[in-house]
Amino acid sequence: MTAFRGWIARDTTGATLDRLDPAMLDDLDTAVRVRYSSINYKDALALHGRPGVIRRHPLIAGIDLTGEVLASRHPRWRPGDLVTLNGAGLGEDLHGGLAGLAAVNGDDLVRVPSELGSLRAAAVGTAGFTAALSLLALERHGLAPETGPILVTGAGGGVGSIAVALLAAARYEVIAATGRPSELSGQLTALGAAQVVDRAELTSSGKPLGKQRWAGVVDAVGGPVLAGALAGLQHSGVATTCGLAGGAEYPGNVLPFILRGVSLLGIDSVRTPRLRRVAAWQRLAPLLDPALLDSVTRVVPLAAAKDAAASLLAGAGTGRIVVDVASA
Ligand code: NAP
Repeated sequence: MTAFRGWIARDTTGATLDRLDPAMLDDLDTAVRVRYSSINYKDALALHGRPGVIRRHPLIAGIDLTGEVLASRHPRWRPGDLVTLNGAGLGEDLHGGLAGLAAVNGDDLVRVPSELGSLRAAAVGTAGFTAALSLLALERHGLAPETGPILVTGAGGGVGSIAVALLAAARYEVIAATGRPSELSGQLTALGAAQVVDRAELTSSGKPLGKQRWAGVVDAVGGPVLAGALAGLQHSGVATTCGLAGGAEYPGNVLPFILRGVSLLGIDSVRTPRLRRVAAWQRLAPLLDPALLDSVTRVVPLAAAKDAAASLLAGAGTGRIVVDVASA
């Protein structure tokens, strides 16, 4: 195999785009010609040398990849299969997807759904996969469209925008919370939000219990926004938490849990077991309207990945950024 280009973090200062030798890849059972990757919040942190994502150096960045199997010792995969992979250590402790070539564990791969194709599967990426895991978790805990509205926080971001689209397509009434209501109301309504609220509404009172407004929450923000979201949960409501874009602290208390019987479910897309990975992709593929997904997707060439990631660190990203790995 010939040299390939990729974003590599050689130390803690951030990643650079270099020509790389295939011999540096991990000795894993499946080689993938990467066609697309994407920029998630974690990728933004990794590319810009922020701590908490990359656990060894040197490491190729990128927690997602979508591409074609070149060779595999895994019984499930053949050369030419179109596959996608989210997390599972990619770009954290295994070489990642922001490069032309990857060596991965075949067990972690999911077939690209025919409804989506490779580019849209990359647009879904970890963000959309996590949104689907959140939907499945809410439903495992008894939520259904009839139970009541679902609040989505960080609605303008990757997880949030796909969560709005998925939940609306699954016939939930969606309340989208964003810090940018005047900028993003139109887009969020087009994705299917019945109502758009300013996230300041969630944090203004600072009280652990408020008016009971929603039956479920998909939270990608954490911090005071999560506390405000829990304060507005109806009795027996359910919230999922996956992110910390607004802070890792939970500045709330136990009152929503013990006075309203609410539940808080953690979502970890990285170590999701295989069957649940497949279930999440099977749930989202027929639900997501390709045109809506396209409307919140921006495609950038490999060389632009780091610049594109800066907007996420500034809290100003919208929708999803796909990285076209084959494009200069
Ligand atoms: P993203 O595209 O950057 O979206 C994050 C959104 O959060 C922003 O668009 C913004 O939405 C809101 N936000 C940003 N800064 C904020 C602040 N200071 N206070 C309140 N809200 C803020 O990132 P993403 O890829 O969707 O990821 C979102 C979070 O989920 C990240 O923390 C990420 O690491 C986490 N995540 C976790 C998992 C998991 O498996 N647990 C998987 C995927 C992602 P508005 O402007 O619309 O409010």
